[in-house]
Amino acid sequence: MNAPIFDNSYTALPPRMFAQVAPEGSTDPQLIALNLDLADRLGLDGDWLAGPEGLAMLSGNALPRGAASIAQAYAGHQFGHLSPQLGDGRAVMIGEIVAPDGARFDLQLKGAGRTPFSRQGDGKSWLGPVLREYLDSEFMAAAGVPTTRALAAIATGDMVYRETILPGAVMTRVASSHVRVGTFEYFGVRGDIEALRALTDHIIARHYPDAADVSELLEQVVGAQAGLVAQWMALGFIHGVMNTDNMAISGETIDYGPAAFMDGYHPDTKFSSIDLHGRYAWAEQPHVAVWNLAQFASCLIPLMGADQDKAIERATRAVHGFPDLYQAAWKKRFCAKLGLPASDAAVGLVNRLLDLMAKERADFTIVFAGLSDGTARDAFIDTGAFDLWRDDWRSSGPDPEIMARANPLRIPRNHRIEQAIQAAVGGDYRPFHRLDAALRHPFEMREEWADLSKPPLEAERVTRTFCGT
Ligand code: AMP
Ligand code: MG
Repeated sequence: MNAPIFDNSYTALPPRMFAQVAPEGSTDPQLIALNLDLADRLGLDGDWLAGPEGLAMLSGNALPRGAASIAQAYAGHQFGHLSPQLGDGRAVMIGEIVAPDGARFDLQLKGAGRTPFSRQGDGKSWLGPVLREYLDSEFMAAAGVPTTRALAAIATGDMVYRETILPGAVMTRVASSHVRVGTFEYFGVRGDIEALRALTDHIIARHYPDAADVSELLEQVVGAQAGLVAQWMALGFIHGVMNTDNMAISGETIDYGPAAFMDGYHPDTKFSSIDLHGRYAWAEQPHVAVWNLAQFASCLIPLMGADQDKAIERATRAVHGFPDLYQAAWKKRFCAKLGLPASDAAVGLVNRLLDLMAKERADFTIVFAGLSDGTARDAFIDTGAFDLWRDDWRSSGPDPEIMARANPLRIPRNHRIEQAIQAAVGGDYRPFHRLDAALRHPFEMREEWADLSKPPLEAERVTRTFCGT
């Protein structure tokens, strides 16, 4: 049985980029979930993780030799307003590991207690957000979307005080890195060119090794985000808090918070209780991505050569590249949902279908999955309009195999997550484990999970979601 072998690179960066901090630890840690598939992919020893030393690490009670134990500094634009000082207020990065295939990952304990960046917060997390992020992020990975992942969930045995007293939990998050747009902004707003340069070199080496210079880095980050957001859209995913501190430079989905998947389709759909004006509604996400990337670009401009006018021009061009890249990715993803190769004619069919769906708030997942077996029609009231569309679509020769790979049968529906959380708070983790198992096979038809595909009943419908705080 082997402890993880840490190979930390972030701690070699200038010390003002992070704070050394130990996790607070847990009174009576109990393992809720251990993701053995992910452990295997990372080259971690599942037996060790499940044993006493593993539990001590995952709960923050005792870290193995070589662990880093830091909180990273970052800033961020939250709903458009700059917060120059955010940082890991409820997470401790315990180190980096290198998987057997050479890929490097951060291990982070989310909800591990106070850090120098906690401000008024307690640094903790209750069970609900831990289970939600676990389910959402593992589903995303199963659906082929770049994302941070969940290695473990631990019940701490400690109570967390929110509006009520709730059971505390810690999630071990795995990310190809935790560097955010906001990490660059932290040094950008301070005019700390040396730190910006160190961070940029780190990111190029770690994620974009073939970027020859800083403007190529920017172009590649723009490309990664364009592809990512197109994948979100194709699953009806709404991140919910696309602040710049919640956008990872690696191109992975990060910080699920109030994230949710739509049931009934409408482009204006939002869930987050704090997103009053729908800044982060489903259809706004590509626009917000550009806005965030512009913030990233402005941090990089000082590094883009002595001729700053030229640098601004190049940075602007890179950010303005987003719409074309995004459109191409969107086209590919949505045409595939109809089983068609990307073409303008196919896009016309996609848009006609989305319009029909929006009118009736037809279920996003059920309509697309139901195109394969003919059940999509049942999701509409105006079946006449749908039939006209369907005739045109059928005559364009859709490929069922492409559709089967593009349209999940199951998504982490809000009401199912809520039910799993409610049961877990009462000590019953079975609904959580069942949902977790089912969401690992989103494209596979299985009778035993048929109920998990269904949209919520009116009484079950979740209309608002909350940040993890
Ligand atoms: P978010 O946008 O929810 O990911 O978090 C925004 C900022 O608030 C980050 O700097 C977090 O570390 C911090 N934060 C959120 N919840 C807590 C908490 N319970 N204790 C301390 N800091 C927190
Ligand atoms: Mg965040």
